[in-house]
Amino acid sequence: MDTTLILLKPDCVAGRKVGEVLKRFEAAGFQIRGCKMFCADVALLREHYAHIADKPFFPEVEAFMQSTPVIALALAGDNAVNRVRDIIGPTDSKKAAPGTVRGDFGVDVMVNIVHASDSPENAQIELNRFFKNGELFDYEMRYASKA
Ligand code: ADP
Repeated sequence: MDTTLILLKPDCVAGRKVGEVLKRFEAAGFQIRGCKMFCADVALLREHYAHIADKPFFPEVEAFMQSTPVIALALAGDNAVNRVRDIIGPTDSKKAAPGTVRGDFGVDVMVNIVHASDSPENAQIELNRFFKNGELFDYEMRYASKA
């Protein structure tokens, strides 16, 4: 079991796709260990997107990511990092296959519904970036849900 970091981006939150996207992750067996809504400030975005901060399109990404609140999720499951990346599809929504989250709900290379950690090492760094001590939970099902 590992845990990965997901961000539901402004097009997901404002576009009311949160339920649809979460449904896919839960149906794939992932457990929510953490969940929070917040407005991403410039410092956080520069840190999170340090690898693209010098790209000409970065100011646009920054504006997009600040256009509405976003939702961070910590999702746990077997091989979570790789399986979640498969479920969401490639960065460019136009190249993402139907049936993937970005293929079904994303618009283009920037407006692409979700962020997901790309390696277990980065997942650990990103979980620490978005969740404080005590904000990630471990629990077991004691009362079964219906169906
Ligand atoms: P991913 O989010 O799939 O890991 P990257 O780390 O390469 O992809 O890029 C981070 C985010 O920056 C992307 O999810 C997307 O929102 C935005 N982005 C990436 N490439 C471009 C581009 N060429 N033009 C505009 N936005 C981009």
